[in-house]
Amino acid sequence: MFENLQDKLDRAFKVLKGQGSITEINVAETMKEIRKALLDADVNYKTAKAFTDDVKEKALGLNVLTSISPGQLLTKLMNDELAVLMGGTVEELNISANPTIILIAGLNGAGKTTFSGKLANYLLTKKNKKPLLVAGDVYRPAAIDQLEVLGGQIGVPVYTDRTSKDPVAIAMAGIAEAKKNGQNVVIIDTAGRLAIDEGLMKEIAEVKAQTKPHEILFVVDSMTGQDAVNTAKAFNDRLDFSGVVLTKLDGDTRGGAALSIKSVVNKPIKFIGTGEKMEALDVFYPDRMASRILGMGDVVSLVERAQMQFDEKEAAELQKKIRKNKFDFNDFLSQIQQIKKMGNMKDLMGMIPGVGKAIKDVEIDDNAFTPIESIIRSMTPYERENPDSINQSRRSRIANGSGTNIAEVNKLIKQFEDMRKVMKQFSNPAAAAKMMKGMP
Ligand code: GDP
Repeated sequence: MFENLQDKLDRAFKVLKGQGSITEINVAETMKEIRKALLDADVNYKTAKAFTDDVKEKALGLNVLTSISPGQLLTKLMNDELAVLMGGTVEELNISANPTIILIAGLNGAGKTTFSGKLANYLLTKKNKKPLLVAGDVYRPAAIDQLEVLGGQIGVPVYTDRTSKDPVAIAMAGIAEAKKNGQNVVIIDTAGRLAIDEGLMKEIAEVKAQTKPHEILFVVDSMTGQDAVNTAKAFNDRLDFSGVVLTKLDGDTRGGAALSIKSVVNKPIKFIGTGEKMEALDVFYPDRMASRILGMGDVVSLVERAQMQFDEKEAAELQKKIRKNKFDFNDFLSQIQQIKKMGNMKDLMGMIPGVGKAIKDVEIDDNAFTPIESIIRSMTPYERENPDSINQSRRSRIANGSGTNIAEVNKLIKQFEDMRKVMKQFSNPAAAAKMMKGMP
């Protein structure tokens, strides 16, 4: 995500490397580079100019402490200011009403239907809500099918009426259905167009007027950069929506939409879509995104994403096993399956500080786990529970059974043993603290 921008910002900061103090000249030069980087990332011109002017002024007013380099100081300032640019604080969804009505709007292909499914899944699993999805796209029968498939996957009911061509009537009937069945959030997916047109605006304005939604989320494809911002402006002028959803941030987006949208429409980004899977949705935290753009990684999101997948009881069990050095191949296999559910490997690894840039040109194969899984599956239950029992003859049988070779089996067992050692250390807080001290 945003690798190009990261690289260029990095280069801009180099101007300050080795400089003992912040001066009018070196800050001006750095800011010029930063502005260029932002414009290259497709950030709105006015936004980029106002931003760099502001940061420059603040940088010059900074008291340079001898213990911090000007580069570090400016990075921190940029981090704070980028967060403010993207909205400052996190904006929670307003879901207190019963039922809460959420209207989803946007152009065709932006990711509305996918997001509707993801949002329902999020509300169901994270917020303990009982959502109902309403298929309001009356022009594309395929969109209704798509929503039904997603609903089936995540276990959320979908209200449809394939005979009706009236989105207002469908939305109202959906709300009535939710009230009848005790569903407390109604997510209304609406029809899009390929471009903004009067018909679309009129129709969605009418749905808004009749359903009186508590939230109107505008879904926009972040790959479209400046266009995303213009579309957002047009929708906002008409709909006065309550929040933005940026989709496809896992793709090759330059970052312009994320950085400009708040300053142009003055509405918060509430969620970001980071993949096609139903779990690939994150609440938008401006400060974390800023750290990510600056290549400082996003450990907090990574941890949260992991927590979303892990069952707490299961995690507690696992910790107990690790403490007793009883972590076995069954646990290892189930961990691999959890990681796979978390989404695209490269994206996940990019959230670790310093790693994003390092792996930018590395192809990471999401199937890398396949041989590992087949090796573990070729072990007997006894072997999985007793890794120490796996001697040479067992290893060669496992290699044969899994269609791999002895070297691969040896490698996996060695890695597993190393991992067990590290885990054991980390399960002891004093030892872990000692290890962390040695880290940069
Ligand atoms: P709609 O026409 O606005 O309802 O858009 P869809 O939900 O049908 O999405 C259009 C395409 O974008 C589909 O192929 C989705 O799988 C894909 N898509 C949606 N959100 C994301 C995302 O966050 N990341 C990626 N990579 N693809 C997405």
